[in-house]
Amino acid sequence: MTWRDLVRGLGEVLFPPVCGHCGGLVEGSGYRYLCQECARRIDFVRPPCCETCGHPRYGRGECEHCGGFEPAYGRARSAVLFRGPARSLVAGFGRRGGVHLIRDAETVFRLSPAVLALARGAVLVPVPLHPRRRRERGLNPSELLARCLANAAGGGARTAALLRRVADTPPLAALDRESRERLLKNAFALARGCSFTAGLRYLLVDDVFTTGSTLNSCARALRQAGCPSLDVVTFARG
Ligand SMILES: [Zn+2]
Ligand SMILES: [Zn+2]
Repeated sequence: MTWRDLVRGLGEVLFPPVCGHCGGLVEGSGYRYLCQECARRIDFVRPPCCETCGHPRYGRGECEHCGGFEPAYGRARSAVLFRGPARSLVAGFGRRGGVHLIRDAETVFRLSPAVLALARGAVLVPVPLHPRRRRERGLNPSELLARCLANAAGGGARTAALLRRVADTPPLAALDRESRERLLKNAFALARGCSFTAGLRYLLVDDVFTTGSTLNSCARALRQAGCPSLDVVTFARG
């Protein structure tokens, strides 16, 4: 136990953690910052789901969530759906004041067998932020998630910052897939001095899969640089 752990432990006796979603008391939920009720309301993505976008689906033929999308990666998987308490976790660990919530992201990964199977033994590549944005924000949630996932998956899984963001794009949230793809074309490149090892599996990691444009732009950059095998994992599916 380090001093930091001890101080945190004392802090939690004096000020017990409150739920990151509803503000209620956290007890016996298996999570550090989610109460029992909110823990129950996390929607884990269970099979069957689309191999391309990770959304749960039951029909055959083209997926209604990603029809026409041409992935530059193999499979995509998400741990949970982006709503309710899971949405609060993402909003939390995406900013400096809520970064402690990342611990519960690791718990979520540990409860997601399909995600762990993809990550076990793989090289996990976080989606990078532009250096200006990274400075502004003080953290990159994808890096934190990649580290959590490597811990949870084991089997030699490790993280590697193989990508850099060369173009600074405006916020994409309000844009459709076509506009996003236009903006993100050539937004990413292989980080200087990086290369791939034959026989290893690579896995892109991000917080939320929305249209898949950002992840696909990263995937294209990795593929063009010679990445031998590439899948995608996100914490949540929007
Ligand atoms: Zn709660
Ligand atoms: Zn799909």
